[in-house]
Amino acid sequence: MVSRLIRVDDFDLVIFGATGDLARRKILPGLFRRHAAGQFPDAARIIGAARTTMSDAEFRADAAAAIAEFDPARAQAPELPAFLDRLHYVPIDATGDDGWSDLAALMRPGAIRAFYFSVAPSLFGAIAERLAGHGIADADSRIVVEKPFGRDLESARALNQTLARHFDEGQIYRIDHYLGKETVQNLMAVRFANMLFEPLWNAHYIDHVQITVAETVGVAGRGAYYDQSGAIRDMIQNHLMQLVCLIAMEPPYHFDPAAVRDEKLKVIRALEPLAAGDIVRGQYVAEGAIPGYLDDVENPASRTESFVALKLRIANWRWQGVPFYLRTGKRLRARTSEIAVVFREPPHSIFDQTGPHKPNELVIRLQPNEGMNLKVMIKEPGPGGMRLVQVPLDMSFAEALGPEGTDMPDAYERLITDVIRGNQTLFMRGDEVEAAWAWTDPIIAAWEGGTARPEPYDPGTSGPDEALGLMHRDGRRWREIKA
Ligand code: NAP
Repeated sequence: MVSRLIRVDDFDLVIFGATGDLARRKILPGLFRRHAAGQFPDAARIIGAARTTMSDAEFRADAAAAIAEFDPARAQAPELPAFLDRLHYVPIDATGDDGWSDLAALMRPGAIRAFYFSVAPSLFGAIAERLAGHGIADADSRIVVEKPFGRDLESARALNQTLARHFDEGQIYRIDHYLGKETVQNLMAVRFANMLFEPLWNAHYIDHVQITVAETVGVAGRGAYYDQSGAIRDMIQNHLMQLVCLIAMEPPYHFDPAAVRDEKLKVIRALEPLAAGDIVRGQYVAEGAIPGYLDDVENPASRTESFVALKLRIANWRWQGVPFYLRTGKRLRARTSEIAVVFREPPHSIFDQTGPHKPNELVIRLQPNEGMNLKVMIKEPGPGGMRLVQVPLDMSFAEALGPEGTDMPDAYERLITDVIRGNQTLFMRGDEVEAAWAWTDPIIAAWEGGTARPEPYDPGTSGPDEALGLMHRDGRRWREIKA
């Protein structure tokens, strides 16, 4: 199966923070893959900017080193020299006035201008102001901003207002890289390009939905940042909330940015406030040589959660009475992300089976091995009467799509290409981000105003037992966390 490749228009992409971890780990290797795929016009350029003083040649050498480190299979690719020729570098301190006129002189008239803010959010305002002040950004320019987009409603609003002073909403691309994942986009394809699921996609047929994003790593290395954030800010408010939106939203009238984002916003606005008993926070403890959370963040008094499980409800017709269970955490049993849509049982069984009748489940795996799995009941083979057994109809996208399926673009590749194309469908709109914080803020405030500590859990487990209880008391159970 060959995917069609449509070249983007000519562009100058400026990466602020080009020497940083995100640029080296994701942005530059992603851009190289799109270059190697032939997606960029010959003249397109990528301009790095940061405070470090560097020549073009040094930046190119650093980009080559980053590709060798983070995409080693392509380190010797024949397309690499031509990619490096696209790269330029301008030393700029975002908070000063030096370097901006050099950048202005580099920008070509006629090419699309995109500015990737891969720097701390505290610098977004300074960069936006100088881009506008020096006439570097024009009315068609785009800016790309990274997470975290604020740490509460107030700061997100302030950030939106700062950016809005210099850029229209149609120029602002707020990245949630989950939306760039192939399987996440596939959620919309599965729902809205098939007749099979949508008629069943409501409270009449769905019992509950569970979403798990589990990591095996701890927070060592980014403990100082994480301890100020925690799982709710770092994962629930953005990534898991976006997944909830894609599962729960009404069909947009068209697959375009305004329509899709309008429907997502309606879901967030329909979220019921969380009841105090519907959330469990956890913190991993030390085990053997593995340090605990408190060691990792070097803060023995920290009450920040490295794990959270919660039950949310969406107050609208489609989802009345259908709980959405979400959990995410560090140092868990396996690295896995999945969404399971668990259907109701048939209203009446004609079979005399005494054993368990298991409900249908549609499991959408985001990682590892992206794909879908539909669990159905069939007759157990053999002469022993009509006994039922549940079997998976398993589809690995990699297997189903052949070589193209094993070479899926990284989220950043897809998202940066969309920026150049001017397509905001997979980016968060300002009002969406604010609505997500408006729902999350009271949950965080209630916790921060109290004295309770997160429940301890051992590394390599499914999190604290209390999280299991969240579902058990509803007569349901989490799916096992396994790779
Ligand atoms: P980082 O490694 O600390 O890099 C920060 C970059 O900003 C460096 O290139 C730094 O270069 C530059 N910089 C710092 N102060 C500057 C200034 N005054 N003027 C111009 N450039 C300046 O951070 P990162 O991990 O790449 O993260 C960048 C952004 O992406 C952050 O908002 C982060 O939250 C977000 N993010 C990162 C990841 C990730 O995997 N790393 C994932 C999701 C989101 P100089 O020191 O040379 O100036």
